[in-house]
Amino acid sequence: MLRCEILSVGTELLLGDILDTNAQYLSVQLASMGIAVHRRSTVGDNAERLSREVRQALSRSDLVLLTGGLGPTADDITKEVCAEVMGFSLVRDEKALEMLRAFILKKYKNVPQTNLKQADVPDGGTVFYNDHGTAPGVAMERDGKCVVLMPGPPNEMRPMFEEKVKPFLLQKTGGVIVSHTVRTMGIGESAMAEAVADLLQGSNPTVAPYAKQGEALLRVTAHAENDAQAQRLTAPVLREIQSRLHTYIYGVDVDSIQQAVVEALIAKKLHVATAESCTAGYISKRLTEIAGASAVFDCGVVCYANAVKQKLLGVREETLQAHGAVSEETALEMAAGVRALGNADIGVSVTGVAGPGGSENKPAGCAYIGIADKDGVRAVRFETGRDDREYNRYVTASKALHLVWQSIQKY
Ligand code: AMP
Ligand code: MG
Repeated sequence: MLRCEILSVGTELLLGDILDTNAQYLSVQLASMGIAVHRRSTVGDNAERLSREVRQALSRSDLVLLTGGLGPTADDITKEVCAEVMGFSLVRDEKALEMLRAFILKKYKNVPQTNLKQADVPDGGTVFYNDHGTAPGVAMERDGKCVVLMPGPPNEMRPMFEEKVKPFLLQKTGGVIVSHTVRTMGIGESAMAEAVADLLQGSNPTVAPYAKQGEALLRVTAHAENDAQAQRLTAPVLREIQSRLHTYIYGVDVDSIQQAVVEALIAKKLHVATAESCTAGYISKRLTEIAGASAVFDCGVVCYANAVKQKLLGVREETLQAHGAVSEETALEMAAGVRALGNADIGVSVTGVAGPGGSENKPAGCAYIGIADKDGVRAVRFETGRDDREYNRYVTASKALHLVWQSIQKY
């Protein structure tokens, strides 16, 4: 198992002028490849401190990925410093020089002298040619340790990583990495992690939990000589996860709850209709993001005003008077009403408080979600626990979609 570190280089990062998105991007990429990132650090454009950081990182880890400091100016010193630490000399690379010239001449008349050093690469190292900028990336290996340098601009670094560095690293890890993502809703990340605590100890496959906007995910990653072997490693673990968390799992390797819902509706030839107050079209927007939604989505009513709830959905005046617009009773009538209006199999409704503010009984993030289907109509009270309007709208829409997904399972 490779131990890896990420080192972000640039004084602008330390000053907070820009956010270190490269480190996050690389963390996600490496995790999906089953490469363990043990540490991330940031260092300014200073030769002495950079050199110290690189040496320390190499004393702890097998692989150090650096971004930044490959530019043409005097403060860009990552390559020079790393070459020195790794004991490589720099030589001009003709192909890199040619690519650099062509890249600059597309925009400018001349190639500045200062740019030429960007075409220098470590003698005996690996070069990752840059199709989106002037600085090639490089790798240097010695005594089982490897240092990879990539340019700082994300629009150059990302394609270089995906197209060139990733295959280079996969060669090193030997074989293939297979990763499956189990998506759950209705259980928090820590409760989910507890339920599979023993599986989280495994090393091949690794099982890693993470939380994402009201959902909890498990990523199962195996590393093997070929795809079939890797699948043989992940399959029993996926089955075990399925058996422990089946009530919460809505999909494996699906992109989103709306994708799971639309695919399930299509498979069962069912139709859905939505009535949304506080989410105001968020559910229908997300359903219709998925190609093929027109076969299963009949209509969505955005009904903010009580009068519209009454007129279009048949919500009764007495219900609104007695219980208010944000109530279980109103959610029930909205769901039944839109199911009838759209002549759908499943009607879903949302009425709630998006925030900010709210009252003691109905705080921000509190919503009633109604489901009308072949078994009748029911409603649940759902609370996000947050006073964040956008988050509440998104997560409440997710919850409503999940309830639709559960309803589909009964057909
Ligand atoms: P460089 O010349 O390679 O040091 O990087 C040039 C530019 O890349 C910086 O001015 C930033 O705009 C961007 N950049 C560098 N490092 C990062 C990083 N870690 N995350 C996001 N952007 C970065
Ligand atoms: Mg820089």
